Amino acid sequence: MIGLIFGPPGSGKGTQAARVEKEFGMSHLSTGEILRSEVAHGSAVGNEAARIMAAGDLVPDDLIDRIVESRLSRIDPTSNVLLDGFPRTTEQAKALDRMLAPRNVDFVVSLDVPEDALIDRLLHRAAVEGRADDTRDAIMERMREYHHRTAVVLDHYRGRGVSVLEIDGVGDLDVVLDRVRQAIKKLMLGKPRARGI
Ligand code: AMP
Repeated sequence: MIGLIFGPPGSGKGTQAARVEKEFGMSHLSTGEILRSEVAHGSAVGNEAARIMAAGDLVPDDLIDRIVESRLSRIDPTSNVLLDGFPRTTEQAKALDRMLAPRNVDFVVSLDVPEDALIDRLLHRAAVEGRADDTRDAIMERMREYHHRTAVVLDHYRGRGVSVLEIDGVGDLDVVLDRVRQAIKKLMLGKPRARGI
């Protein structure tokens, strides 16, 4: 099974991804986490990405595509994978289709949270965690990038007949996890081949 998790900045995507991964025995691949680790290590990729990330912009497609391709090549091709934060543009989605062939994406979880709640959560996270891209300007830019470039990626998958599970992301983490869990389980029932996860 290949699953994707989508959600605007502050929607709880990373937290939910970690929980879904554990519960359904999936390998979790977060491009945001990979990039933050590259930045922390001062690698060439990290140095290229640091300024772009701090401004809330998206790093170039070819850079992120290479990172994901290399990580996917190290994962057992029969394993279940949850991609968090990738693809974020239609170009990346097309690159992922090529990387996965002949496999396909099985489902997309899309967390839906109203924008005012997101900004409050992100400013709170900025105070607690001090992420470099949680300044007000960077938050607004990440939100803009999400609406202009990432939200359309859902249409790419809908157009290919992939199930897009739209989940209300407002509420307690456990309540949201339960909604995600139920939606994935319901999907599995309709996909006998995938019941193994
Ligand atoms: P995230 O932790 O998923 O919110 O990602 C943090 C930041 O990493 C984003 O704001 C982007 O600057 C960068 N990033 C993560 N994934 C991607 C991607 N698929 N394409 C481009 N930039 C990305």
